[in-house]
Amino acid sequence: MAARSAEEAKEEVRAASDIVQIVGERVPLRRMGRAWKGLCPFHSEKTPSFTVNSERQMWHCFGCNRGGDVFSFLMEIDKVTFPEALTVLAERAGIELPASGRGAGDGKRDRLYQANALANDFFRASFRSPAGAKARAYLAGRGFDEAILDRFQVGWAPEGWDSLSMALGKLLPPTVLEEAGLVLRRGDGTHYDRFRGRVTFPIEAAAGRVAGFGARSIAPEESPKYINSPESPVYRKGGLLFGLPLARAEIRDRKRIIVAEGYLDVMRLRAAGYPNAVSTCGTALTTEQARALARFEAEVLLVYDGDDAGVRAADRALEPLLLAGLAVRVLILPDGEDPDSFIAKRGAAAFEDLQKAAGDVAAFLASAALAGEGANPSPEARVKRYVELLGKVDDPIRRRLMLRRGSAAFGLEEEVLLEALSKRRGSRRFSGGGRGSDPAGLSGAQARPGQAGPQGAASSPGVASGHQEAQESPEVLDPIERELAARCLTEEGAITEVVANGGVNCFHSSTLQALLRSWLQMARAPLPDEIRALTDMEPLARALLAEHSVEEGRTDEMSRRGAQELLTRLGERRLRASIHELDQAIRQAERAHDSGSLDRLVAERRDLASKLHGSSHPAVS
Ligand SMILES: [Zn+2]
Repeated sequence: MAARSAEEAKEEVRAASDIVQIVGERVPLRRMGRAWKGLCPFHSEKTPSFTVNSERQMWHCFGCNRGGDVFSFLMEIDKVTFPEALTVLAERAGIELPASGRGAGDGKRDRLYQANALANDFFRASFRSPAGAKARAYLAGRGFDEAILDRFQVGWAPEGWDSLSMALGKLLPPTVLEEAGLVLRRGDGTHYDRFRGRVTFPIEAAAGRVAGFGARSIAPEESPKYINSPESPVYRKGGLLFGLPLARAEIRDRKRIIVAEGYLDVMRLRAAGYPNAVSTCGTALTTEQARALARFEAEVLLVYDGDDAGVRAADRALEPLLLAGLAVRVLILPDGEDPDSFIAKRGAAAFEDLQKAAGDVAAFLASAALAGEGANPSPEARVKRYVELLGKVDDPIRRRLMLRRGSAAFGLEEEVLLEALSKRRGSRRFSGGGRGSDPAGLSGAQARPGQAGPQGAASSPGVASGHQEAQESPEVLDPIERELAARCLTEEGAITEVVANGGVNCFHSSTLQALLRSWLQMARAPLPDEIRALTDMEPLARALLAEHSVEEGRTDEMSRRGAQELLTRLGERRLRASIHELDQAIRQAERAHDSGSLDRLVAERRDLASKLHGSSHPAVS
């Protein structure tokens, strides 16, 4: 029986997946010419250099040089393995994969997800068992009904040192449990459970798989109140938001995202009629999380605790959110309450009133109680902080509106803010774009973990530098050579013409020579498979194809003529450069009264000039 190979299945899934549609669900794309463009989700940028080419079913970012096909996009953006991306796309397209379609290399992450899934089942079962009675009573006492607890798959990690280790030890090796962060190793090599006597909240990755856990103690005296899974190959706390997979549809509908700080806040908000709530996982909001939210093109309402820590956390969250292009409002709850306790005490209606009245960034910074008793920043520091944040806003209309709002909130002329802003921008340009100053002192003495933490920086190298001027590009390529190279990769007629005119020597760029050498030697353009392999491996090939559009119905003859035209332009340009060099040599010979050289140079120049004249009028030559 001829079973379908994994390779065939992959191609079938690829053919059934529309890259523009799939990328477009995560990255707002705009049609520009024949390509689709958007802001790159993998590096920080203000003008779109992220390109999706639907004809080639390929994406490429001219800023960070990442790119590939629909599979590599999902792998990069969801941090999943190839088999996971293949599975997701196959399910979407309704294609059944052969049993062997799952490769061996992804085993590790699969096993970690599997360990978390099994642990989640175990925690949920023990929550419902007699052992979980205390936890059930605790949460019921706080007003959480069963529907909500089920919805968030709340569980219970039993007391004792090895309940989970014992239960899962039969199914998975302890090293896997350890790597998933579920157990810890003692000095003697034995293992014990990380989560003990705690309520557990599974934190799901984009694909709906459990990536890690948050766990809360129910004993008031126990410290810390929360512990979380450690970072693992499947769990990055700066990249995930609790509740996001559940909230997706509601966020899209309501065009609003509520960002809170705690798991119970998210549950309480959903119970109170705000299913569009998410929370960070025990860290400050990161750039990566802000970008994940920006994909929804919704307004963000930060609902943070009414204490110093809450105010500082809200302030820290502003920068990544504004940088990601989001509109932000801030609600700091009164009397030291968090969303959970506030709604539990005062009810959903009271919260609704508060959230309706929530102010924007200017109102937040201008409000009186920014930092507890006596430690409030001066009015000047508040304005400076506002101006600093304005500098992060890319959209000119939003910036304009924020200027106006700031002027009203701080009682200053718009011109004054504008001047401060342009001074800031000027000085930033000269100091190399350094940021991280904190004029208002809202962040206190703490480090600012929200921005570009080690994981964030590692996964998106563009974040810290902001701009991409310093991209490693050893050679600046002539645009005409680029276009000619792109045509050689895709048009049979172009490669024939280039081969007839000297092959690899038509290119001055050694990079392009290296890229094209083998095809020029074989005198044929790459086949579709070969193009795919090439664009997978060579960012340059991808870039060339992304910027070079495909014209339908182009005949070989048209390709040949197109290539000829480019070769002519290249030839002319090179002749002009040689003439320019000769002119300089002639001037030098004149100064040195070297009549012998002068005659030779002048003759040479005349030759070149007539060639140039001839080449631009092919009919005459
Ligand atoms: Zn990029």
